[in-house]
Amino acid sequence: MSRESTRWHDIRGRLESLAHQYPEWQPSLPLWQAMLYALDDPAWEEAVLLPCPDRPATAPLLAGMVCYVDAHKVGYWVRFLAKLARQNTAPAQAVPLRTNLHQEAVLALLEAALCQEHEHLTALAEGLGAHPHALAAIVHLAVIPLLQACGRRLASQVPPSWSCGYCPICGAWPTLAEVRGLEHTRTLRCARCGAAWGTTWLGCPYCHEMDHQRLGMLLPEPHGAIGQIETCATCQGYLKTHTTLQVLPAYAVALQDLATIALDVAALDRGYTRPERPGYALACRLVASPARRRTMFGWHA
Ligand SMILES: [Zn+2]
Ligand SMILES: [Zn+2]
Repeated sequence: MSRESTRWHDIRGRLESLAHQYPEWQPSLPLWQAMLYALDDPAWEEAVLLPCPDRPATAPLLAGMVCYVDAHKVGYWVRFLAKLARQNTAPAQAVPLRTNLHQEAVLALLEAALCQEHEHLTALAEGLGAHPHALAAIVHLAVIPLLQACGRRLASQVPPSWSCGYCPICGAWPTLAEVRGLEHTRTLRCARCGAAWGTTWLGCPYCHEMDHQRLGMLLPEPHGAIGQIETCATCQGYLKTHTTLQVLPAYAVALQDLATIALDVAALDRGYTRPERPGYALACRLVASPARRRTMFGWHA
C-alpha cells in the first residue's frame, strides 16, 4: 500500500469509528472529510509568509506574520464548506452565508480563526447575519489546511529550547500530550497546525505549575483505554494524554481529539477546564495575494 493510500485508509477508519461512536455527529463528518481532502490542495503550500522582523523570543512563529493567500481560492473553499454545512444540517441551524460573500469578509473571518479571536469572530458573524457558533465551527475547520501548511513549512524553525506551554507555531494551547514509546517521552501536540513540541515530564502547560502535589491524573474509564487526563490544582486546567508507540500524524491530532471527547466531558464534570483564551495572541494578518507579489515572494523563495 502506498503512503497516500495508507494515510487515507487511516483517515477513513478514524471517520468511520467516529460515526459509529457518535451517531449524532454524522452531519458534521462530511465537513471533516472535506477538510482532510483539502489538506492535499497545493494552494495552501503557495501561501506566502512574511515573518515579523522583531518577533519576541517567546512568540510563536506565526505571531505578527503577514500571510498572503489566493483570496479567490480561499473564498471558494469557505463558501464550499458553508454549502456543505447547509446540506448536512437542519434548516433551523443552517448558516446563512451568502454565496457572493466578499473576499475581504472571507479573509477577515479566516484571520480571526487563525488568531483565535473568538469575540471578533462572533462580531463578524453577527455582521453577516450568520449564526456565530455555526459560522465559527466552519471557519475554524476551514483554516486548518492553511495552518497545517504553515506547520510543515515552519516546523524546522521551532527552537529546540521552546519551553512555553502554547504551540510554538500557532499559539494555541496543546490539544493533547503524547506519551511516546518505551522511553515515555512527553510531547505536546497542536490539532490546528499539527505541531509537536517536547516538554518536561511534570508541569502544567497553562500555568507552569511544577509541584507534583498540585498535579494529578484522572483515569475516568476502565484501564484508561482511550487515554488519561492530567489535571492542575493551581489553575484547574486539564490536558488529555495519549499513549502511543507511533507518533500521531499532523492530520490525526484533531481526529484523536474528537475521538476522546469522553475525556473532556469527564474533566469538565470534575470542575476542570481549558483556558478560554489562546496561549498567545498571534496578531497575524491574512492578505489577498496580488499575482505580481506571488512571483516576488514565492513560498519557496
Ligand atoms: Zn499550532
Ligand atoms: Zn496549571
